[in-house]
Amino acid sequence: WGGDGDTSITQRIIDEVKPAEIDKHLRFLTAKPHLAGSARDEQVLVDYVHDKWQDYGLDVVRKVPYTVLMSYPDNTTDSYVSILTNAGEEVEKSSPHEKPIIPQQNDSDVTRPFNAYSPSGEPEGDLVYGNYGTVEDFEYLQKNNIDCSGKIVILRYGLIFRGSKVENAEAAGAIGVILYSDPEDVDPSNLPAYPKGLWMPETGLQRGTLFTGQGDALTPGFPSTDTAYRLQQKDAKLPHIPTTPISWGDAVKYLRNLGGPEAPEGWTGGLNITYTLGPGFTGEYANGKMKMHVHNVFENRTITNVIGYINGSVESDRYVLLGNHRDAWVFGAIDPNSGTASLLELTRVYGKLLQEGWRPRRTVVFCSWGAEEYGLIGSSEWTEDNIKTLGQRAVAYVNIDIAVQGQATPLIKSTPPLYQALYNATKQVPNPNPEEVKQGRPTVYDTWKHMKPDGMIGSIGSGSDYTVLLDRVGVTSVDMRYDYDRKTYHISTYAMYHSAYETYDYVKKFMDPDFAYHRAVVQIWGELARNMADSLLLPLGVEDYADFLQKTFEGFEQAAKAKLDEKNISLDGLKAAVQKFSLAATHLEQQRHAVDRNNPFAVRKMNDKVMYLERAFIEPEGLPGRPLARHVVVAPSKHNIYASSSFPGLQDALFAVDHSEDPDPAWETFKRQLSILTFTIDAAARPLQEDT
Ligand code: GLU
Ligand code: CA
Ligand code: ZN
Ligand code: ZN
Repeated sequence: WGGDGDTSITQRIIDEVKPAEIDKHLRFLTAKPHLAGSARDEQVLVDYVHDKWQDYGLDVVRKVPYTVLMSYPDNTTDSYVSILTNAGEEVEKSSPHEKPIIPQQNDSDVTRPFNAYSPSGEPEGDLVYGNYGTVEDFEYLQKNNIDCSGKIVILRYGLIFRGSKVENAEAAGAIGVILYSDPEDVDPSNLPAYPKGLWMPETGLQRGTLFTGQGDALTPGFPSTDTAYRLQQKDAKLPHIPTTPISWGDAVKYLRNLGGPEAPEGWTGGLNITYTLGPGFTGEYANGKMKMHVHNVFENRTITNVIGYINGSVESDRYVLLGNHRDAWVFGAIDPNSGTASLLELTRVYGKLLQEGWRPRRTVVFCSWGAEEYGLIGSSEWTEDNIKTLGQRAVAYVNIDIAVQGQATPLIKSTPPLYQALYNATKQVPNPNPEEVKQGRPTVYDTWKHMKPDGMIGSIGSGSDYTVLLDRVGVTSVDMRYDYDRKTYHISTYAMYHSAYETYDYVKKFMDPDFAYHRAVVQIWGELARNMADSLLLPLGVEDYADFLQKTFEGFEQAAKAKLDEKNISLDGLKAAVQKFSLAATHLEQQRHAVDRNNPFAVRKMNDKVMYLERAFIEPEGLPGRPLARHVVVAPSKHNIYASSSFPGLQDALFAVDHSEDPDPAWETFKRQLSILTFTIDAAARPLQEDT
C-alpha cells in the first residue's frame, strides 16, 4: 500500500487527523510549567512523548541526553528594577513576579521574569531609552550626543532578536539593559486584554534567552558529550551586562520620568506619555538613578531529546526529519506545545497507517527537542553529534515550533527545494476557515495565496531548531505555522509570546477553540512528509533554487551597483555562475523527467543529486567572524538572527563598509566573499551536469 503515485494515503492522512487528540495532548503538556532542565520537562514530558511514540508503533524510540550550561533565576532573591532616589530610597519597584491572572498561575514553578544567561548584578546609573535597540537605534543616540556608556538602557521588545539588542547595548557601553513589552507591540489596537481577550495585559512580560550562538555555550561546534572539551565559562560567548524583562505596567514608571529630548518618529510606542530619550530622570526624581537587581544562577544540567524512527522499507538510510521543541518558558500552550501536540498527533496517524499496512519508502525521524528556548540547545547538540550521518543521509528537515499563533494564513519559511512540495501539500488540505471556504477558497493553499500574493514563502533565518541542520550541515529546511494577519497587526510576535499567560485556557478560549487550525497544520506536515518519504523521485526542486539565486542576484546588483561601480568591483563573474547554475538545473530537471523509473540505480542517482544540492552551498570556512554559519547563500542576519540574509558574506561586508570609520578592510572582505560565493555557486552547478 502506498508508494509512488498512490493518493489514497494522502486522503487517509487528511481524514485521520483528530482535533480532539491534539486538544488532549495540549492539555497534558501545558498542565504545569516545564522549563528546560526542570523535572517536569525532563521526566514527565520526556516520558510522555517517549511512551506515546512507542504506543503508536514507531520502530525505534530513544532518549538522547546532553549535559549543558543552563541559566535560571535565583529563586531565593527577588530580581527587580527601581528608582533610587537622592535620599537613597528605592521607589517605583518593578514586580519580581508576573502577576497571576488565572488560578493556574498560582504555582511556585511559574518561571520568574528573567533573561537566560544574563549575568547577575546590581548596576546603577542614568537611564536611556533606545527604542528597539537596533544598530541604527544606537547610532541615532550617538549622533544626537546621547552617550550610553555607563548608562542603563531601556529597550522595547520587537523587531529583532533580544540577544542582538543586548549585544548592541553592550557595544554602546551600557552597563545594564531593561527589556519591556510596549503596548504598541503587544496590544496594538488597545483591544481587551487577557483574560477578557487576546491581548497582553499590562502585567505581562516576555522571558527569553540572550545567547546568540547555537547549542551549549561551552561546546560551540561540537557535541556536549562526556568526552567533550568544555570552554571555561568566562571564554564563552555570553552577555556581560545584567538584563531583565519587565511589563509595560512597570516600564511606564521609568519612561514617564525620563528627561532629555523627545524621542523621534518611530520611537514612540503605545504608552500614554511623551517618549523621551534621557539620559536620566527629570521632575520628582531628577537626582535619582535607575537601579537594577538581577540574580540568576548558572547550572550544568541534563537536557533530553526524544528521537523516534519509522524505518523506511526501501531506502532506510535516507531520513526525512520532522521536529519540534518541547521545553517552554512557562506553560507553553502556543510556543512550543501547539507544535508538540501536533507532532504527537502526526505520529499517531502514521502509526495507524503502519497498522493498516503502509510503510514509507524512506525513514521518517521524529524529533522532540529539549532546551530550544535557551539557544536551540537540544537540536544543535544532536546535529553536532550526528553531523556525519546527517550529512550523508538527511533528505530534508521540517520544523514546526509554534503550530498556531493566529488564524489568518500559513507563515512558511524555507529554502527553495521544498517550494513545490509545500504548494502541493497545502493544496491537499481543506481550509480550516469556513468563511474562506464560502469565499471560494477551499484549501489552505488558496488562503495562503490570497493573503500573500507577492510571495508566499519567506527566506529562512534563525530562531528555531532548523538552524544547525541548515546552516552547518546544509540540510534543506522549512519552518511553518499558522499566523495572524500581519497587514492588520504590525507586530513582530503574537501578544502573549513567552509570557505566563500562554496557557491552555488561552488557546481554548481565543487562539483555536476547535483545534481546526492545529488540524490543518498536522495535515500539511503529514502530507509533506509522506511525499518526501514515499515518492520514488524526491520532490525537491532544483529550478526553484536557480530562480532564487537569479532573483537574489538581481536584487543585490540593483541595491549595490552604484557603490560597487565606484570601487570598480564587477559582479559579472557571479552573474555567470548564477547563469551556469540555471542551465545545470534545467538540464537536471530534463534528466529527472526522462529517468528510467524501473532502474533503481538511476533513480537513486537522481535523488542523490537533489538531496546533496543544498549541501553544496556549505563552505567549511564559514562566514567572516562566524565560522559556524557555513551556508553561503542564506544565513541568519548578523544583527538580527530572526531575519534571513541572502548572500550573507556580501551583505555583511557591505553593512560593515557603511558602518565603519575605515571602510577599506570591509571592502577587502567583500572582494574575497564575492570570489568565494562565485566559486561555490559554480561548483554547486557541476554535479547537476553530465557526469563527465
Ligand atoms: N526561539 C527562541 C527565542 O526566540 C530561541 C532562539 C535562539 O536561541 O536562537 O528566544
Ligand atoms: Ca555543542
Ligand atoms: Zn519555540
Ligand atoms: Zn520560544
